[in-house]
Amino acid sequence: MADRITEGYKLYKNEDVLVEHYEPGHIIFKVKNKDDFYIVSMLYGYWNCDCADYTYRNQRQPGSFYCKHLQAAQFKLLDLLNTKG
Ligand SMILES: [Zn+2]
Repeated sequence: MADRITEGYKLYKNEDVLVEHYEPGHIIFKVKNKDDFYIVSMLYGYWNCDCADYTYRNQRQPGSFYCKHLQAAQFKLLDLLNTKG
């Protein structure tokens, strides 16, 4: 199994994570995937990603799974919090 924390960190370090929308309780990230993006969203504490990995596993065990995009988004979130105080 791929190490999703490490893979997510690489995406974050490569600046592949873009912030599309930011307000308390609702954040949307775009995570680059070649010529396309995956959308990672957080709505009142519920995280979601539209990649196949997350969709498949989340259906089987809702809320129990992190994909690398979601992990990358959370590293980016730390940046946002550090910047915005
Ligand atoms: Zn994903």
